[in-house]
Amino acid sequence: MPSLTILLFLFFSKFSAASDTITQYGSLEEDKTLVSNNGIFELGFFTPSTTSSNRYLGIWYTNIPLRTVVWVANRESPITDNSTKLSINSQGDLVLSHSNTVIWSTNTTTTTGVLVVAQILDSGNLVLRDDKDTNPENYFWQSFDYPSDTFLPGMKIGWDLKKGLNRGLTAWKNWDDPSPGDFTGFISQTSYPEEVMWKGSTKFYRSGPWDGTKLSGSPTLSNSVVSYTIVSNKDEFYATYSTNDSSVISRLVLNQTLYLRQRLTWNNDGKTWRVSSQLPSDLCDGYNICGAFGICDVSKAPMCRCLDGFKPKAPQNWTQMNFHEGCVHNQTWSCMDKTKDGFLRFANVKTPETTFSWVNASMTLEECKNKCRENCSCKAYANSDITGEGSGCVIWLGDLLDIRIMANAGQDLYVRLAVSETENRHGNDHSKRKVVVFASTICSAIVILLISIFIYWSSKRKTKVKGMENESQEEDFEQPLFDLASVEHATNYFSNHNKLGEGGFGQVYRGTLPDGREIAVKRLSQTSTQGLKEFKNEVMLCAQLQHRNLVKVLGCCIQHNEKLLLYEYMANKSLDFFLFDSSGRKLLDWPKRHRIINGIARGLQYLHQDSRLRIIHRDLKASNVLLDDKMNPKISDFGLARMCGDDQIEGQTNKVVGTYGYMSPEYAFDGIFSTKSDVFSFGVLLLEIVSGKKNRLFHPNDYNNLIDHAWGLWREGNAIQFIDSSLEDSSILNEALRCIHIGLLCVQHHPNERPNMDLVITMLNNENILPLPKEPSYLIKDILTSRKSSCKSLASFSVNNVTISMLSDR
Ligand code: AMP
Repeated sequence: MPSLTILLFLFFSKFSAASDTITQYGSLEEDKTLVSNNGIFELGFFTPSTTSSNRYLGIWYTNIPLRTVVWVANRESPITDNSTKLSINSQGDLVLSHSNTVIWSTNTTTTTGVLVVAQILDSGNLVLRDDKDTNPENYFWQSFDYPSDTFLPGMKIGWDLKKGLNRGLTAWKNWDDPSPGDFTGFISQTSYPEEVMWKGSTKFYRSGPWDGTKLSGSPTLSNSVVSYTIVSNKDEFYATYSTNDSSVISRLVLNQTLYLRQRLTWNNDGKTWRVSSQLPSDLCDGYNICGAFGICDVSKAPMCRCLDGFKPKAPQNWTQMNFHEGCVHNQTWSCMDKTKDGFLRFANVKTPETTFSWVNASMTLEECKNKCRENCSCKAYANSDITGEGSGCVIWLGDLLDIRIMANAGQDLYVRLAVSETENRHGNDHSKRKVVVFASTICSAIVILLISIFIYWSSKRKTKVKGMENESQEEDFEQPLFDLASVEHATNYFSNHNKLGEGGFGQVYRGTLPDGREIAVKRLSQTSTQGLKEFKNEVMLCAQLQHRNLVKVLGCCIQHNEKLLLYEYMANKSLDFFLFDSSGRKLLDWPKRHRIINGIARGLQYLHQDSRLRIIHRDLKASNVLLDDKMNPKISDFGLARMCGDDQIEGQTNKVVGTYGYMSPEYAFDGIFSTKSDVFSFGVLLLEIVSGKKNRLFHPNDYNNLIDHAWGLWREGNAIQFIDSSLEDSSILNEALRCIHIGLLCVQHHPNERPNMDLVITMLNNENILPLPKEPSYLIKDILTSRKSSCKSLASFSVNNVTISMLSDR
């Protein structure tokens, strides 16, 4: 029974209680909120999206227009009625209940005679405390001890053995579903703790241990916006931070996407959250990318190599960029004479995974080395604290996992090797010489091979080109020749009824051959902007290309004035018919779009890398992607494609042809085309497929194109808004976001920053970390400003969607 004083207090508090507090026996109803003293945070009931009727009790920023929820109480038990209330019961337990059913509670009990209050603080912490005691050490319960997906200033992330707490972050399942998602982030409870992010039970990222100055793999934890403190003692290990400027609103969130952990800072002018940093930040941040005894270096290609003294365990997989099996000792290493083992120093590394490590804070480095040498399981040692000259000892027992180069930010790691190996490395350069001799032998072999291929290729090419120059019907097109009468018959004499569409080449007609095969016939028009040359190009190239994602040419016909190309018929016409049509778009659910993206990527990969010739398409766009009856994509229109030798990766032309909106800057402005200019077009297409929007056609005064739009939303952490709204039901959020990210990598300004198609396919089909794209939008603005004079004709370009040809100013 509450005492009289408490009852009196309750009576008065009903009228005088601050709106940041509820008292024991008081309650918070569904339509009310508590607001912290300075109006920063608000506690109340919310619905995460308009499409859901589930309600939750949560905390959000009061003055931020986009409701940003930082904590949710009943993540796993949504409220489905509107008569739920929050109250403190007689045991001092904060309870969310409906009728007499408890939905969620803090599970706390307090001594009788104490008046318990729940208060929302300006830090965003909801605390349960004795009304008369504001000392944080005496809180009965606080929401900061049970974080959701957000790490706020003042919160502690880490463990406290005395209180039995391990405070970590758990992502929301989806942006409209706060129930716990797959991604979690916790500080490991080991003798050498580090932050580990998990996807289910699989490690996804580790920060590296605290080396006395920073987390070894996350050197920029503190920055101009926030300052971190790490507290480490035998009972607790946690990280906390504060903002350097109290007027700045900043939070750290664990997402259910592959941009796992983002720091977001509120931009009041733009009224948006800006991503100021994110993890993982590059490919080497992915957990154990290079496998045991491998080392990752983003500045190198390939990014993985074995530590000196080790070799790939499965060399055939390494050549295919699959490094997961890692490395093994070069020679059979045994621990027979352990006192003789040597250690090789690796500088500037993120130290290995610490699950099987041992630490002693008072040992010197020399003692540490001896400690390691004594134990056959010890594979490496280092200072546990690198402050000043360095002190303490950490040794790694077992495989060395997840090592990477940390350019100027890592520390020295001493890896155990047989003494003979360390001697080799420190003594003469015998091994290096062996490598050089081996490498030069390989190089000579490659050169000889390339020369032979080139001689073979150029001799073949010469006969073909010669054949094409005389323009006779007997030319060697390597394509079946159809006679005009049968094509006319098949297409009902090119009747309008049979017309499928029109491209730069001319009209396209549907037809049926006498054997029943359905065909599409392209008829070179007399007024075509693409001419005979493109026609021949297409005939010649198509004869040599065979891939399930390239449209198949069945033959051609050159008779009288007619020049016709016969293709397999694609029942679903081209991608643009679906993508840029409001009802057509709805037929393309996410699995279909993903399959189409993959198919286009594979077709392009074949052109660039796998076909006998290296082919640059130069006009990849939605209308040049045809869809068969099963919606399989096939790249078409090779009229503008160019063939390069195996060793030629780019070319230059003073006749720039292609389609604005899809053209890379170096091609549009300098006529330089390469496989990377196709990658740029692929990137634009990718963004169009995800958004269902057309890249606004190029206009010098309009910088606001689809690429800028994608970049703006992605940078602000709002890439979700870029996804086509008709995909709501079918989109797999991670895949769609990943495609936006890959699209942005493909449209980067510098060709060599764009991935090649091999890498694009790898990125599309696994969950590895993606590198951060550089801002693409400046290219249009900057180039236009800097080259206004040389590109004066640009302003007068006709803006349409058909392939254009133009002469540049050069
Ligand atoms: P193109 O000249 O290749 O740009 O083709 C113009 C339009 O004709 C395309 O956008 C398609 O709608 C249609 N088309 C071209 N080739 C085929 C084909 N093989 N099957 C069905 N429709 C086609």
